Amino acid sequence: MNSYVLGIDLGGTKIDAALFDESYNIVGRHRDKTEAWRCDEEVFQRIVGVASAAIKSAAVDPAQITAFGIGSPGPLDPDTGYIINTANLPFKNFPLGPRLSEEFQRRVVVHNDVDAGVYGEFRRGAASGAQNVLGVFIGTGIGGGLIINGGLYNGFSKNAGEVGHIVIKAGGPRCGCGNRGCMESLASRIAIARDIKKAIKRGARSKLARHAGKGKELLSSKDIKKAYDDGDQLVRKIVHRAARYLGIGLGSLVNVLGPEMIVLGGGVIEAMGEDFMARIDRAMRKIAFEFSATNLRVVKAQLGDDAGVIGAATLARESAQRAGADERT
Ligand SMILES: [Zn+2]
Repeated sequence: MNSYVLGIDLGGTKIDAALFDESYNIVGRHRDKTEAWRCDEEVFQRIVGVASAAIKSAAVDPAQITAFGIGSPGPLDPDTGYIINTANLPFKNFPLGPRLSEEFQRRVVVHNDVDAGVYGEFRRGAASGAQNVLGVFIGTGIGGGLIINGGLYNGFSKNAGEVGHIVIKAGGPRCGCGNRGCMESLASRIAIARDIKKAIKRGARSKLARHAGKGKELLSSKDIKKAYDDGDQLVRKIVHRAARYLGIGLGSLVNVLGPEMIVLGGGVIEAMGEDFMARIDRAMRKIAFEFSATNLRVVKAQLGDDAGVIGAATLARESAQRAGADERT
């Protein structure tokens, strides 16, 4: 009998659910807005709605769906499936895993959303075959996940891997987390956009000057990339500085973790491409010890926006298989 697993990627703006067959082909899918301004119960019902619609869109017998996996912003407890709290969702100590399990009568695993994405790249993407992987996603913010000795590493806190919040510059810009000088506050899209606008306001010349008075979300990775390719000196300087900060952070992490592969993904990496990655790579190798960096590969994520649903589904299937094996012994 065929078996299917559902992967859900829960974010502050959208919910994405995809149903996978045994070869990880997507056989059903549905996406909708999160509407995170609603209360916890209403957002939960929206998750249920997206999951149900994804299942309905596939021509499969729901009885053949063995497990659900969901990636959610944290902090959260992957052992109990509780969301502890998150900045962009209304959940506080919310039993997301148990509630979904009760609703659909299936095994449900809950993981950090970035961990799920990194796990997707580890099992079915750019890091297939590697055993020690550092995944870093650079977009609006900077998220990360760790694969150590072939498994997801969550640490004693169960919420390890927050690579965006290692402090690179004492007394640097204020980060969304409250600290100053985090990698995220120096090299995310928001940080790059902020620095470009600040310089324009101070009188620097730039092709992006017309954006300077608008909200920070209006300067997209694509806008930045276009100005960069057009030879905008201000934009090039700020992007190069961001690459250097990323290199400093990654080089330090390489010295601590000794990974065999770094997977880089997210909107900024997708938009800025090879030259930006090469700059990060060079800056990283100035900080990383030679014996740690010699055989280290820095690769681009392959799964794009699907990494989260693929990783969540893979984690769900593997958890169900382990549980099945335990029951047989
Ligand atoms: Zn931070």
